[in-house]
Amino acid sequence: MATMTEPVVQHYSAYKPKPFTREQREDTTILFGGLTWKHERLIQGVLHNMKYKAQPLPNVARPDLDSGKELIDVGACCPTIFTTGNLVNFLKSEVALHGKEEVNKKFIFLTAGACGPCRFGQYHESYTMALDGLGLRDFRLFLLAQDQLDQGASGGGGLEINLPLSMGLVWAILCADVLTDLEYMTRPYEVTPGQTDKVLQESIEYLYEVYRNRPVKENKWAMLAWHLSTNYFTSALRKVRKMWDAIEVDRLQVKPKVKITGEFWLQTHEGDGNYNIKRWLEQEGSETIPPPIAVWLHYLLHPAIRKLEKRQTMKRGAKLKLAVLQVLERVYNGTYNRFRKALGNLPNALPDQIELKNLAEPFYHFELRGGEGHLLIGKALHTYHHKKAHMICELTPYSCMPNTMSVGSMANVLGKYPDLLYAPIEIKGDAEVHALSRCQMILTEAKKRSQRDFEEVIEKTGLTIEAIRQYEAKHPEVCRATYRIPHLGYAGTAANYVAHLAQSGRIGRA
Ligand code: SF4
Repeated sequence: MATMTEPVVQHYSAYKPKPFTREQREDTTILFGGLTWKHERLIQGVLHNMKYKAQPLPNVARPDLDSGKELIDVGACCPTIFTTGNLVNFLKSEVALHGKEEVNKKFIFLTAGACGPCRFGQYHESYTMALDGLGLRDFRLFLLAQDQLDQGASGGGGLEINLPLSMGLVWAILCADVLTDLEYMTRPYEVTPGQTDKVLQESIEYLYEVYRNRPVKENKWAMLAWHLSTNYFTSALRKVRKMWDAIEVDRLQVKPKVKITGEFWLQTHEGDGNYNIKRWLEQEGSETIPPPIAVWLHYLLHPAIRKLEKRQTMKRGAKLKLAVLQVLERVYNGTYNRFRKALGNLPNALPDQIELKNLAEPFYHFELRGGEGHLLIGKALHTYHHKKAHMICELTPYSCMPNTMSVGSMANVLGKYPDLLYAPIEIKGDAEVHALSRCQMILTEAKKRSQRDFEEVIEKTGLTIEAIRQYEAKHPEVCRATYRIPHLGYAGTAANYVAHLAQSGRIGRA
């Protein structure tokens, strides 16, 4: 007689990485990624400084989208698909070379984690789903909580997320940010094509050594004091500034300025993941303002402070917490400004988070978290009111819930500010022509505005191009990449340049 067999039930079990022990440090490489090559190289310097073996993943490329789609949820957002596919393709190539067992032993992957309404809190779930698909369940994946600087040792003690490491990482990110700002304000105007990229590469390699050789103090408080008091990084940046002195620029080229905003990963990335849109905009004749990661880190700090400040009554513990966070905010801004100063105050200052919050308030409440929250609106209005750019290009990921809310609120903003040039570009990873042509339409209007600005300033100042060229020939210092052009009320660089030369009164009028 046939007997009924019990169905085999496979219960869900959450991924728990196998330990990464201290003894394994020397033979295990920490993989990481998701930022620009500049940020990643300096982060690698910090990890090497802390005696870890570390390697960034290759930059995200188009085939990563297909590999990600094969292995994770259909509805995942575009950054999750790209970054998972990126890890998958790297692991596949390593497995082909060394076999699964060796890959499980040889590498661990370190990624940022968070919680909240966006999928960022679930990235690791997608990664583990992909690991299952690859038959690499034993591969070790660790989360670095982005709001905790001193998390202690990971499972097994091989990776210690402590203050010296976290401070090094934050300092490296800030440093890469100011360099990135300098890069994007220089390259569109360089006289010798390719010179900016060459100097940038040399600068980052030099700074990599600076971070790798950072003195490590005996305890975390000594390390903290050293970071806050030393000139170690600022003197390195002053040397970098000298390297940039060699770049000659022609700022009389009239170009529209485009501010990049959007979802964190998409706006930061430089490559196929966002159709390489920053380089594309430059090829189309514009200057772009890249989004510093520093603004995002500041944003993470900001709501906790504002919430505490709002409280009517506070117990001692809350008062102390508020005081610590306020000091932290001051130190953070101060460090960024010291880095900027070392580069001749050329990189843009960080926007005031309170101003961003207040600007966004009528449209999007700052306590609504997820994605970029109120930042998208705050940044768009900040750019508009301060005339920082002619146009905003906002990169929205396909299948992103928080960003859909921000873009929806932007419709209200545009109703109130109809002359704000705003290009929300949906990024799917495989619809490049559609996305770029949409951006091009708005860019056409931005180009007209930059030309109008320039003609206005020429008329107002009475200067001629010939007179400016003659002045430049006698004063080549104004054609250096490191010569600072103040913001004199125009969005475009060429218009501000002419206004600045006129203001200095050194050139005869027509
Ligand atoms: S903000 Fe949107 S795109 Fe970014 S991780 Fe969250 S859900 Fe995905």
